[in-house]
Amino acid sequence: MTLPGRFLAWLRDTLLRMFPHATRPGLRAIGRPGPNAPVLLSGNFTLTVDRLTRVLRGRDAWLLVADSHGINVWCAAGGGHLTHHDVIAVLRSSGIGERVEHRHLWLPQLAATGVERRIVQERTGWRVGWGPARLEDLPAFLDRGQRVKHSERLMRFPLWERMEMALLWAPATTAIAAVVLWSLLGATTAFIGAGSIAVVIFAIFAALPRLPLWGGSRWFTYAGGAVVASLLAITADMALHGPNLLHIGVLGAASTIAMLVLSLDLAGTTPLYPSTINTRGNRFDLVLNAERCTGVADCVQVCPRDVLAMDGKLRRVRIQRPDACIRCGACVVQCPEDALFFRFADGRTLSPTQIRATRMNMLGRRAVVLPAKTLSTEDQAAAEAPRRD
Ligand code: SF4
Repeated sequence: MTLPGRFLAWLRDTLLRMFPHATRPGLRAIGRPGPNAPVLLSGNFTLTVDRLTRVLRGRDAWLLVADSHGINVWCAAGGGHLTHHDVIAVLRSSGIGERVEHRHLWLPQLAATGVERRIVQERTGWRVGWGPARLEDLPAFLDRGQRVKHSERLMRFPLWERMEMALLWAPATTAIAAVVLWSLLGATTAFIGAGSIAVVIFAIFAALPRLPLWGGSRWFTYAGGAVVASLLAITADMALHGPNLLHIGVLGAASTIAMLVLSLDLAGTTPLYPSTINTRGNRFDLVLNAERCTGVADCVQVCPRDVLAMDGKLRRVRIQRPDACIRCGACVVQCPEDALFFRFADGRTLSPTQIRATRMNMLGRRAVVLPAKTLSTEDQAAAEAPRRD
């Protein structure tokens, strides 16, 4: 593809990244892979597959593209769109078994919320390992013989990616404001108001690691954004048109509405993709049943936030950074002993079985309702029981 073509494809996929965009699942050859080349797996979100193909240029590998319904790996796995069934299906249907002499598959670490490694291994005979959390780290991972460094297990949200998110949100949000302002106050004020909102959206994403985006305190971020956007727009408008109460009121209202629109996604749940557990508004925390832990540390390998660590002396896992936990559920899903579970602030628990069934649904349609009676004392007893023999 030519450079302008690639840029247009990137722009299209970035602007529309909130919506599924699927590429064909199946087997792809990167470079000239032979029978001993590594086998990597990805979902079939077009943007991801394009980026993978680009970062792996110059290496030889097999890429298995599983059907994640055109959604990126993390959201698809969290929402139940990419599961071990999809991985098993592409392993069996792609013919990869005839192309390679080994049986070692590398999954993206962020698939761990939805793909149970044990089940893939048991049903296919392939050995399954976790690759790095971010695809940019894949070349280094391959170059050092398929070993993941600790830092590559941790999730990062670099500035360029935050700017991409701003690029996703700014046009949609400012377009609404521009139409309303244009119809009420004319083109110049519309341009000033929409421009101020866009500037604030980019500033919010740039400052994201330091701003609250979850819980009640997130409203400080959006209220602050609305105030700054209003002040910018009103100052510029007054310089051009002089003081005008109608302009001040409408620009203030447009900025506030724009920030409310922005808040829909950044809270991790939207009216479009409701997240049952998030929308309960009931805080829950990760709990380790130390009696059950056998120290296999599968949970440590998949945690993107360095919450869990192996305690060498006790030969079992410990929760070392509870406040860093984003409650993605990957550790709970992967633990072979069901030694991890979530407990709500009111004392009820979400057992591993329930978490595997519902997942931490950031984008999916898996809006499984968890009425109070399903969070029963039986589940609580099962989750807190000592290890099964
Ligand atoms: S400890 Fe928290 S952040 Fe880490 S995998 Fe488990 S739920 Fe996710």
